[in-house]
Amino acid sequence: MIAQSTQPRRIAVIGAGIIGACTALALTREGFDVTVIDAERPGGEQAASYGNGAFISPASIIPMSVPGLWRKIPGYLLDRTGPLTIGWRSLPRLTPWLLRFLVAGWTEDRLRKTSTALTSLLTDGPDRHLSLAARIGRDDLIRRDGLLYAYPNRDAYLAEAHLWALRRAAGLSWRELDADALRREEPALSTRYEFGALVESGAHCVDPGEYVRAILAASGAGLVQATVTGLMRGAGGISAIRTDQGHLDCDGAVLAAGMGAARLAAAIGDHIPLEAERGYHVELCNPPIQLRRPVMPSDGKMANTMTAGGLRAAGQVELSRADARPDWRRADILLAHLASTYPALASVDRNGVRRWQGNRPSTPDGLPVIGAASVPGLWYAFGHGHLGLNAAPHTACMVADMISGRGSDIDLAPFSPHRFARTGRTTPTNSSDPVVEASAIAAGIHTKPQGKART
Ligand SMILES: Cc1cc2nc3c(=O)[nH]c(=O)nc-3n(C[C@H](O)[C@H](O)[C@H](O)COP(=O)(O)OP(=O)(O)OC[C@H]3O[C@@H](n4cnc5c(N)ncnc54)[C@H](O)[C@@H]3O)c2cc1C
Repeated sequence: MIAQSTQPRRIAVIGAGIIGACTALALTREGFDVTVIDAERPGGEQAASYGNGAFISPASIIPMSVPGLWRKIPGYLLDRTGPLTIGWRSLPRLTPWLLRFLVAGWTEDRLRKTSTALTSLLTDGPDRHLSLAARIGRDDLIRRDGLLYAYPNRDAYLAEAHLWALRRAAGLSWRELDADALRREEPALSTRYEFGALVESGAHCVDPGEYVRAILAASGAGLVQATVTGLMRGAGGISAIRTDQGHLDCDGAVLAAGMGAARLAAAIGDHIPLEAERGYHVELCNPPIQLRRPVMPSDGKMANTMTAGGLRAAGQVELSRADARPDWRRADILLAHLASTYPALASVDRNGVRRWQGNRPSTPDGLPVIGAASVPGLWYAFGHGHLGLNAAPHTACMVADMISGRGSDIDLAPFSPHRFARTGRTTPTNSSDPVVEASAIAAGIHTKPQGKART
C-alpha cells in the first residue's frame, strides 16, 4: 500500500518581494503547486526589494543595535543631516519597540548571540545568490566584485575594531587598504578617505526589482494581483486566503509580505513587533563616474552601488509610520553625501536624480521571523530589516525544509516567531475555529501565470 502524503500541495505565498519570490522558487522546485499573491507588481516600487542598497554582504552580521548605541542616538537625532530620525508623533507607539531594540544590543553577550544567528543565515549569501542567478539563467544580475568599506582614516576603522573582530571570528576575511591602495581600488573617492576594508567575497545585485521578477518567472508559480485581507482556517489549518478579489483555496501558506505581514499575523493571534525602518535612495541616471564596486562610506552610512538605473545611494533610517508621506529631505541628505564622497559629483544635475522611499520590515532584535505560525499550515518569512536581499535564498530553503518536514541546516530558535511571547507561543489559538476571519467570502480567484499580472 502506498502511504498517503500528508504534505500540503497547494501553497499560497503572500508577498512578491525578494523573500516571496525566492520562497516560491524553492517550493516549486520541491513539486508544490505555488501561487504568489501581491497587491502590486512583483519587485515594484512599493517593495523594499526594489530600492535597497543591493549589497549582498557577508559582513552584515552585525545588527543595528550594538552596545553603547544609546550614547550616539541623541547626536544622530540632533544632526539634521544624520543617518537616523524619529517621527515624534509616532514615538508613543514606537517606544516599546525602541526599548526592545536597545536591550537587544545592550551587552557584548547579546550582540554576540545575534551576530552568531546572523552568521548562520548570511555568511554564504553571495554563493547562494550566484548559484541562484545562474540557475535561472540571469547571472548578469549578480556580480561578485567585492564590497568596499571606506573610512576617513585608520582610527575611524579601529573605533569599530570590536565589530570587525566579530566578523573575523565568523570566518570573514578582508583586505586592509591604506590611502594609496584605496585610491587605486576606487579612484573616484574623495581624498578625505584614507583607509578601506575590501571584502572580496561580497557580491551585489545589479537590478534588485528585475531580479525579483526573474526569480518569479523562473519559478513557474501562478501570480495573483490582489490585496490579502485575511487567512481562513479549516479543521486542518489554513484552508484559503481571503483577498479583495475573492478567496484562494490552499493547503498551506507562507506569509512573506514584508511590512504587510504583521497585521495579517496579528489577525490569527501572532503578535510580532514589526516596525518600519523607513529608508531612501537617490539614483543618478547618467553619473559622470562609474564605481568599480559598491562602496559604503562609514560617515555617510549609505550603500553606493552601480545599478541598471545608474549610481544608487541607499540608506537613512526614519522611524515613523509605514504609511507616512516620504520626507524627501532624507533623500537630499543622501545626495549631499554622494557629492562630498565623490568630488566628480559635486555639480551633478539634480534633474537627473530619481528618489525613492521604502520600508525595511524590522524586528527589534534585528533577526527575521522564519518559522511555523500558531495555526497549522502557515509559515512566516518576514522581518528581514536591513538584510532581506542577502538572506532571501537561505530563508527560502529554510521555509521549504519546514514545509517538506525536513530538518534545518541551522539552529532555528533565534528566528522563531514565538520568541517575542513570554510564554513561548504567542497567543494560543483554538484549532476548532472554522475560519480566522468570519466575513462572507466572494467568488474564488483564478490564478494567472506569473508575468501577466491582473490589472
Ligand atoms: C534603503 C534600503 C536599503 C537596503 N539595503 C539592503 C542591502 O544593501 N542589502 C540587503 O540585503 N538588504 C537591504 N535592505 C533590506 C531589504 O531590501 C529588505 O529586507 C527586503 O527587501 C525585504 O523583502 P520582503 O520580500 O520581505 O519585503 P518587500 O520587498 O517589501 O515585499 C513585500 C511584498 O508584499 C506585498 N504585500 C504586503 N502586504 C500585502 C497584502 N496584504 N496583500 C498582498 N501583498 C502584500 C507588497 O506589495 C510587497 O510587494 C534595504 C532596505 C532599504 C529600505
